[in-house]
Amino acid sequence: MGGEGRDPWIVGTVMRWLSVIAVLVGFLVASGWLPIIPASANSAASSSTGGTSTTLVPIADATPTLAVPLTPTPHTPHIGIIAGHLGSDSGALCPDGLEEVQVNEEIARRVVGMLRQRGWDAELLQEFDPRLEGYRADALLSIHADSCTFPGKSGFKVARAESSYIPREEDRLVRCIIDRYRTATGLAFDANTITYDMTRYHAYNEIDPDTPAAIIETGFLLDDRELLVEHPEIVAKGIVDGLVCFIENQAP
Ligand SMILES: [Zn+2]
Repeated sequence: MGGEGRDPWIVGTVMRWLSVIAVLVGFLVASGWLPIIPASANSAASSSTGGTSTTLVPIADATPTLAVPLTPTPHTPHIGIIAGHLGSDSGALCPDGLEEVQVNEEIARRVVGMLRQRGWDAELLQEFDPRLEGYRADALLSIHADSCTFPGKSGFKVARAESSYIPREEDRLVRCIIDRYRTATGLAFDANTITYDMTRYHAYNEIDPDTPAAIIETGFLLDDRELLVEHPEIVAKGIVDGLVCFIENQAP
């Protein structure tokens, strides 16, 4: 009965000491004197090895991290390749019956295949393909070849629209293709015979103005015939290298 009066006093004293200890611990932790030891799943593993290797976790690392993906999904380049005259007409004709459209299609199909092998989204388009209306892609290239009528004419040409909405982008596309195509094929760049057929090419007016586009004349069907017909894989490689240069922002 007599002890009843003392119990509140003991409780009060214990509470005061607990408060003092709590403040002291808080001060020591904040000042770095007392390390925080995490009660994580690792502690079970470390205690089984003797408990001596407990790791100290800084307060910053202990805060939960947001589940935001660090690497954004990579963009898959989308490329349109027009096989010149395909689905429309023969294009240039040789006396022995060789048609430009055959040469263009063989090269264009190889280019599309090689781009797909890189994991890119490439598609083969016809000369007047309905998909060209408002066409959106990372690049559009139309593949043609030059006439079969002028002996002594050799070389290739690349051009973009004369009234371009994105001249800097398209100039870079043209420079990339010129440089890589020349390197792969050894053909000379023939700037002197670029015609309105190339700079006012019909597809430029059909596609989305933000799609970088160009046209290539891969060579002359008479003097460059061996390269164009016998080695379409070299021709295709030069074009693919040029597109890779443009898409991957390499120096032309
Ligand atoms: Zn043509």
